[in-house]
Amino acid sequence: MNIYLDSTATTEPRKEVVDEVVSIMSQYYGNPSSLHRMGLDAEKKMNKSREIISNALGVNRDEIYFTSGGTESNNLAIQGVLKRHANRGAHVITTEIEHPSVLNTIRSYESDENLDITYLKVNQLGQIDLEEFREVLRGDTVLVSIMMVNNEVGAIQPIGEISKIIRELNPNCYLHVDGVQAFGKLDLNLSQLGVDMFSFSGHKIHGPKGIGGLYVRKGVKISPLLYGGGQEKGLSPGTQNTSGIVGMAKALEVMVGNREEKNHVSSLKEYLIERIASTIDEVKVNSPANESFTPYMVNLSFPGTRGEIVLHTLESKGIYVSTTSACSSKDKKESHVLKAMGISSEDIEGSIRVSFSYKNTYEELDTFVAELKHAVEEIRSIMR
Ligand code: PMP
Repeated sequence: MNIYLDSTATTEPRKEVVDEVVSIMSQYYGNPSSLHRMGLDAEKKMNKSREIISNALGVNRDEIYFTSGGTESNNLAIQGVLKRHANRGAHVITTEIEHPSVLNTIRSYESDENLDITYLKVNQLGQIDLEEFREVLRGDTVLVSIMMVNNEVGAIQPIGEISKIIRELNPNCYLHVDGVQAFGKLDLNLSQLGVDMFSFSGHKIHGPKGIGGLYVRKGVKISPLLYGGGQEKGLSPGTQNTSGIVGMAKALEVMVGNREEKNHVSSLKEYLIERIASTIDEVKVNSPANESFTPYMVNLSFPGTRGEIVLHTLESKGIYVSTTSACSSKDKKESHVLKAMGISSEDIEGSIRVSFSYKNTYEELDTFVAELKHAVEEIRSIMR
């Protein structure tokens, strides 16, 4: 028995996606830059994918740049802006709860004397304070990088409001949004929302790994991080991952606007919270089922336990969850996100993240809750 409840870390590729990937790899393997027919056929497939993605995001086809994933997109957006401001005084704003691919990229500039960095705090809902944002935004702020949906708790930031404040106070400042956990899951129209750059990734939406992209609004000027051929208009050079691109577009096409699947995921979250609250003592729900959080995950604390032990106990029963994010869980550090939300050390220590996909069932959740109850009670009896 396998119960996979870790879809925030990565997802199982859909059959339609695997079929597309195999078809591109076996029949359309021409280099999309080649001038002959095989190249043109591959290029057509790639451009069709660019169109599917740009339509879903409410932007133009020529504003989508393919990359190797969310990490590269975040680096390209942030470093791409900052490279242009090297040696000139500048200010950057981000939050304390960003993914490491944003936080560590920005931290790498901390020793740069010309650059000032503001890390915004978040409240108990994991959201920034808009009044505080207004106060810290400066005339020389060149970049604001804020995630749309957090990957440890699922907190949703008010990106539309943030964009409005930037337009009002400093229209020259770029807004970059790490949209990896929002892509395909939230209804998005990036032009209306007023973001300048938006990162996305294939493997969080039942697509392939190692593929993603960056929306760069027309007129936004960033420098490339890599130099090579002219692919992706020189911003992300190197022969494109055509099978990954087509697979990612297929995954998005199936997912976007699929109300039935979205409603199913929302119901799963509500059901799970209700079941856990009525079955297990002393549970704290760090990301409740309301409009402040994505339905695709729930973060829970069981004081008197250790998340890692809960995880491994469940794993021995074929159930897969996470402690914090898969990317930072090997660091053994306290979750920077839960800490920023003001959650106590004991609650952080006993926290797990459970995340859902269209494939999960209520029966799986029933089994999970029964095993979780055993695990929590057993660990508490030893630790307390
Ligand atoms: N940002 C967020 C919010 C994420 O959840 C992830 C994936 N853990 C990334 C960026 C990095 O994406 P990728 O794995 O495609 O590099």
